[in-house]
Amino acid sequence: MSDADVIVLRELSKRHGTVPALDGLSLTVPQGSVTGLLGPNGAGKTTAIKLLLGMARPDGGTGLVFGQRIDAEADSVRIRQRTGYVSETKDLYPHFTVDQMVHLTRGLYSTWRSDLERRLRGSFALRPDAKVSTLSKGMRTKLSLLLACCRGADLLVLDEPTDGLDPVAAELVLETLIGLVAQDGLTVLVSSHQLTEVERVADRVVIVDRGQACLEAGLDDLRMRVRMVRIVLEGDGSAVAGLRSEPGVLAVNQAGRVVTLLVDGSAELVIDRARRFASPASIETLPATLRDLFLGLTRSADVA
Ligand code: ATP
Repeated sequence: MSDADVIVLRELSKRHGTVPALDGLSLTVPQGSVTGLLGPNGAGKTTAIKLLLGMARPDGGTGLVFGQRIDAEADSVRIRQRTGYVSETKDLYPHFTVDQMVHLTRGLYSTWRSDLERRLRGSFALRPDAKVSTLSKGMRTKLSLLLACCRGADLLVLDEPTDGLDPVAAELVLETLIGLVAQDGLTVLVSSHQLTEVERVADRVVIVDRGQACLEAGLDDLRMRVRMVRIVLEGDGSAVAGLRSEPGVLAVNQAGRVVTLLVDGSAELVIDRARRFASPASIETLPATLRDLFLGLTRSADVA
């Protein structure tokens, strides 16, 4: 672990009854980064977030946030003091008004950002006297975000923060986050299914699948390194079996005669092997987008 790492999770495991929610999850969130936590439904993202905030205990592995242990009660309190959290369910008191929620939260934090509160109240257009129970899903998300952003935290953990927001509001949230990171050096861990939004706001991504991180990297690095190789086969393509074990091959997916490979680094060796053994009708190499990576890694079939 480096001093510059705010979150360090190593080999975390967690079962819910017989369901393995996390199965050796490791990830790092460096200070000042915006790390996108991606993964299919049920991959373990919310479970990981709950563990790192001390809301549940791991069955195995270790985790540090600001150098504090996630599995120790006193450390968890210190972690939560420095962390703004927007939960998947946007937990708020239903009988409170917007003003009462803001007042209550402001009173808890000496680091409260009144300047930001004024700005976000204006742009989020939240009616001060509206009861939380009467707010729409998107309005509740905006209020949760306002409370998390204004408390002057060092770390923001956001579980699907733009879920339920209209495109204008989602854009506003992204701009707010980008501004907070740029001006205040905040560290952000954001779970989302909106890949284009993650590409805009994050500088790193962790893709989680079946309770493990199958990719952790900087987005710029990925754009430079990873290529998608699409092979259209002449025959049945049984010869593509084994391509997965070629150096740099991250994932192999096959749909009929079309085989798609994600390759980290030079694709020359893989292409050469495919030409010699798989009788391709065509081979093309394309830049891999985050969507390609997500789909490739989380759907990777056992063709190898
Ligand atoms: P999504 O993208 O759908 O929000 P996720 O990646 O956040 O999914 P988790 O909510 O962490 O996934 O769930 C991981 C696994 O653990 C799933 O199989 C889920 O059904 C299971 N799980 C989560 N919480 C519980 C619980 N309280 N009791 C039983 N199983 C649970």
